[in-house]
Amino acid sequence: QSKRTLLIAGNWKMNKDLAEGAKLASELVAALPEIPEGVEALVCPPTIDLKYVGCHGGILASPIKLGAQNVHWELSGAYTGETSVPMLASLPVAYCIIGHSERREYFHETDEDQNRKARALVAGGIVPIFCCGEPESIREDGTYVDYVCAQVKAGLEGLELTSPDQLVVAYEPIWAIGTGKTATAEDAQEVCAAVRSQLAEIFGQEMADGIRVLYGGSAKPGNIAELVAKPDVDGALVGGASLSAEDFSAMVMKA
Ligand code: PEP
Repeated sequence: QSKRTLLIAGNWKMNKDLAEGAKLASELVAALPEIPEGVEALVCPPTIDLKYVGCHGGILASPIKLGAQNVHWELSGAYTGETSVPMLASLPVAYCIIGHSERREYFHETDEDQNRKARALVAGGIVPIFCCGEPESIREDGTYVDYVCAQVKAGLEGLELTSPDQLVVAYEPIWAIGTGKTATAEDAQEVCAAVRSQLAEIFGQEMADGIRVLYGGSAKPGNIAELVAKPDVDGALVGGASLSAEDFSAMVMKA
């Protein structure tokens, strides 16, 4: 199995208004006129910025892909404040983050919600980036592999894939997100490999061998090369460092 195409995905979270987002996007387009072979770069701005960043900021005309941070599973209807898969697809958006620990914690989203979102995205031709990861207490009591595999199973079971390119999983230990505490490359490899075994149970080994499994949690230019050198780490979901064009482009070039 040759290494899968690496994905460096920036999650801007609730940062950057329209002008700031367009500025960051233009800086990224200028910094990354070409993406190295075997690497894919993705930015996920806030929903309200997607169109402006994609068009005015030039992302949709560049080799950098555009992604969303959240979606609703229904196609349309009375869901005030929500955004549907067809709305995202019409931009077009290529990827959508689901199940981020901030959405699970602050907005009480469940594995069942993620399962519905994943199905709706795949049906609508958008690739879900399904996030999973353990809190510090679970890391400390040593049950983190079982915890993360249970999230993967509940969140993705029943999803119908015809190609491994239709799904990305991001392992994001919560204790490493925005804290400056990066998991070691060995920690990342251990859990990413376990996630892949769980994916093999759900989708079969051949499909699991092609699905990208990312690491997320204080990834930055200084540690990206070591992380992606691990056999089961296929890139990174990047929070803080994705808000700087210099740092994010450096990560894409070093991956
Ligand atoms: C994230 O929240 O997806 C993330 C990985 O954040 P950071 O890189 O800032 O730790």
